[in-house]
Amino acid sequence: MPSAARKPPATTPSPEPSEADDANVDERVYAAVSKALLSGKLRPGTPLRERALAEALGCTRGAVRKVLARLGMEKRLVLEHNRGAFVPNPSIEDMRGIYRARRIVEAGLVTTLFGNLSRDQVAALRKHVQEEQKAFKEGRREDAIKLAGDFHLLLAQMANSEELLSYIRRLISNTELYKALYDSAEAASCAPREHEQIIEALATGKSLDKALEVALEHLDELEQRVIAGAAAEQEVDLATLLNGGSGSSGKGKPHAHDH
Ligand SMILES: [Zn+2]
Repeated sequence: MPSAARKPPATTPSPEPSEADDANVDERVYAAVSKALLSGKLRPGTPLRERALAEALGCTRGAVRKVLARLGMEKRLVLEHNRGAFVPNPSIEDMRGIYRARRIVEAGLVTTLFGNLSRDQVAALRKHVQEEQKAFKEGRREDAIKLAGDFHLLLAQMANSEELLSYIRRLISNTELYKALYDSAEAASCAPREHEQIIEALATGKSLDKALEVALEHLDELEQRVIAGAAAEQEVDLATLLNGGSGSSGKGKPHAHDH
C-alpha cells in the first residue's frame, strides 16, 4: 500500500506534478492573494478573475479556484454564485458587529488568561511583539497587519480551545481586512505598543479591571480608525456621484453604493 501512494524519490523526474508540488502551488497562490488583500490596494467590491490570477501567478485556473474557495470559506473573500470572487464590501454595521463580537470574546479571553500565563508564554508574547515592531519599522505594512492579528491568535491559543481559536481566527481575518482597507498606514504603529500593555497587564496579574480596560480600549481604537476611514471613503464616493460622475459611477464596484 505505501508503495502505491509514494513515488520513488527524485532519481526519475516525473512529468506530472506530485501532490506535494500541488500543495506548494496552493500555498504560494494563497500567500500571494492574501498578501494582495492585506495591501489594501484591492478595493472593496473588486472582482478577482480566475483567468487573470492564473496568468499573473503562473498557475492553473484550478489552483486559483481552490484558493479562492478557501479564502471564501475564511470570509476573506465573498463568493457569488455564477459571478465569481470579490473583495468584501462590508457595510459599517457589518464591521461594527464584528468588532462587537471581538470585544465580547476577547474580554472572556483576557479574564481566562489573567494571572494564569506561564513565564514561557509571556516570553513568547513579548518575542512576537518584537517581530511586530520590526515589521512596522521596516515599513512592511502587510506583514505588520498580519503579525498584529497573529498576536491575538497567539493569546487565543493560550486558552487551549480549538473551538475558540477557530472562531477568533475568523473574526480576526475579517478585521485584518478592514484594517488593510480603511486604516491609514501611519496609525498602525500604536499596535505593538498597545500589545505590550496587554501583556504587562496580564502578566503582572494585579488588576483584572486594568487588563480588561487595556484590551478593550485597544479594540475600540482599532474600530474607530477603521470606521472613520470607511465613512470618509463613502463620503468621497457620494461626492463623486453627486458631482455628476455619471460616466464612471459604480465602475468596477458591483455593489459599492448599497447604502
Ligand atoms: Zn491588536
